[in-house]
Amino acid sequence: MAVTKGDELIRATTQDGMVRFIGARTTELVGRARELHGTWPVPTAALGRALTAASLLGALQKNDEKMTLRILGDGPLGAVVAQGDARGRVRGYVQHPELDLPPTAEGKLDVGGAVGRQGHIHVTRDLGLKEAYTGTAELVSGEIAEDLTQYFLISEQTPSAVALGVLIDVDGSVKSAGGYLLQLMPGADDTMIDQLEARIARIGSISQYWSTGKSVRDLMEELLEGMEPKVLAAYRPEFFCGCDRERVAALLKSLGADELADMRKTQRGAEVRCHFCNQVHFFAPEELKAWEQESARHREDEGK
Ligand SMILES: [Zn+2]
Repeated sequence: MAVTKGDELIRATTQDGMVRFIGARTTELVGRARELHGTWPVPTAALGRALTAASLLGALQKNDEKMTLRILGDGPLGAVVAQGDARGRVRGYVQHPELDLPPTAEGKLDVGGAVGRQGHIHVTRDLGLKEAYTGTAELVSGEIAEDLTQYFLISEQTPSAVALGVLIDVDGSVKSAGGYLLQLMPGADDTMIDQLEARIARIGSISQYWSTGKSVRDLMEELLEGMEPKVLAAYRPEFFCGCDRERVAALLKSLGADELADMRKTQRGAEVRCHFCNQVHFFAPEELKAWEQESARHREDEGK
């Protein structure tokens, strides 16, 4: 068996079209998110699961559509937000990256305790052109995979199996991460469902699965054995924010002259931190001054 390295995502369907599969290995992108946000182990696991979910949801989209996953529970972690598109670009953050929680009774990272068991999961499909659709479901456990399964059933009436896993090393780094989504189309028979359930149970923890040297393709073949899976897309997902200084500048400019003057005087410039990638964009007082004048000129023009 060839050992494949690096992140990968495969979207496939069975020959009869009854089962849809999306699987992703996301070790590198989750590691990158941890570096950018400086997350501690439990927040790394929560963010990693959400980013993996965003890569799977993104694969269901077309062209420039985006999916945003917001998990708003009553736990100490606060909001967990992740976004993914059809090209495998994901970004996201957690509200409290430096959270420490004791392990669960089974010795696992307490993602459910961090996220909280009361609250909602919102999935927004952004179709561009200001068109967006949001579906919502109540949280089941705060463990994210179960919550997403419930979301698909309640909000989209699609029976699904979702697995998400992040394995954290003793030094807090990401040892492995990944997940998969299986969806049944209307008309799938019970024998097939029983078969899939048995295979899901046999595969077990998805983050452990990679450690045996297996690939996303191996995962697909194991889950859909005998159902003639057809690969529809295969690519490498990555952490990519896309925020840049120019866009932040445009946002600042739109605040208007008074707000800009206030920032220039009280903060000696403007520092804008991007939630998604934690990068700070700095604007010097001279830049703000120039925009103030520009904005004041516009106001005069409009007054004429
Ligand atoms: Zn950013």
